[in-house]
Amino acid sequence: MNKLDAERQKEIQQAEELLFAGPQALGFAKGLFAGHFVSDWVMPYPRIPADQQDELDDTLTELRKFLDEHLDAAEIDRKADIPRSVIDGLGRVGVLGMTAPKEYGGRGFSQMANCKVLEEIGRRCASTSVFVNAHHSIGIRALLLFGTHEQKQKWLPKLVTGEQLGSFALTEKEAGSDAANVQMQARPSEDGSHFILNGEKRYITNAAIAHELTVMARTPVPGSDKTAVTAFLVTPDMPGFEMLEERMPKMGIRGTATGRFALRDVKVPKENILGPQGKGLKVALTVLDFGRTTFGACCTGAAKTCLELAVQHANTRKQFNKTLGNFHLVK
Ligand SMILES: Cc1cc2nc3c(=O)[nH]c(=O)nc-3n(C[C@H](O)[C@H](O)[C@H](O)COP(=O)(O)OP(=O)(O)OC[C@H]3O[C@@H](n4cnc5c(N)ncnc54)[C@H](O)[C@@H]3O)c2cc1C
Repeated sequence: MNKLDAERQKEIQQAEELLFAGPQALGFAKGLFAGHFVSDWVMPYPRIPADQQDELDDTLTELRKFLDEHLDAAEIDRKADIPRSVIDGLGRVGVLGMTAPKEYGGRGFSQMANCKVLEEIGRRCASTSVFVNAHHSIGIRALLLFGTHEQKQKWLPKLVTGEQLGSFALTEKEAGSDAANVQMQARPSEDGSHFILNGEKRYITNAAIAHELTVMARTPVPGSDKTAVTAFLVTPDMPGFEMLEERMPKMGIRGTATGRFALRDVKVPKENILGPQGKGLKVALTVLDFGRTTFGACCTGAAKTCLELAVQHANTRKQFNKTLGNFHLVK
């Protein structure tokens, strides 16, 4: 097999891993790539059902009040830290477990309703919105989507209130855009009771403040010499967990703790595997799909704030005895 064939073979294998074995439904965006514009899927634009809308409105009112009184975005940026009091307050409003089922202490909101919540936070503070996304939209998402009832019962109640925080650890030096190229290794113990994890992760939001991290590592594929990615629940109190850098310096979103850590012979019980063994890439990319919608909502909120401020400035700032908005260039 030449190099090109080998590369192609690897891509096919990765695609198969991503798609599991079952058929894939065509989504609206995927349809566009295939040249289909199926308007029925998006028009009329889906509305939040009336009973959920009332609950959402109440939550947004409570959230706005809390953010007005307690969130100081400039201070968060200056100090490069989100105060614990803000995190606790977000937990009280329910933001840290918005889409988690009520039986585990969450609010049971739809993804769409949660996007409205994230848009409101994104309007005010990029750091806080990224923090919430890292905790909820990707941090506990794998647990919500792929966790067993026992895993959810064990981990979720403290995570949805913010008493504990979550994080999602996929990225490594060699695995950025090329997410499938995870190098962290997870070797099964001889008695099969646990896996031994070794490797490093970087650029992980909340890594230094999280109590639970969803970590992607390579496990052997039984009966072959291949390896595949598996998702593990890791806690920082496991021996061998080493924080290399708690807060990597950043030019923006300075309030979030973007960390780098190593796992050195960390023993993780097999009960901490999330989703099927060897299907961690599917777990990771599905989780990220959810995150993309809420990250997008945050950006929508930020863009609305920018527009409002720009319009306000153009309508109040005067030069040459005219407000800026009266100049053709600005109109
Ligand atoms: C603030 C911050 C927070 C983060 N939080 C997390 C987190 O919580 N958890 C986590 O796992 N990761 C996190 N990440 C990592 C993030 O997911 C990666 O940065 C991202 O996957 C890109 O990887 P990279 O930085 O290594 O860039 P690279 O992969 O090196 O890419 C560099 C550039 O090359 C381009 N490029 C790469 N491949 C291609 C291609 N095939 N075709 C065309 N262009 C290409 C990219 O678009 C990019 O512009 C975070 C990153 C940042 C900056």
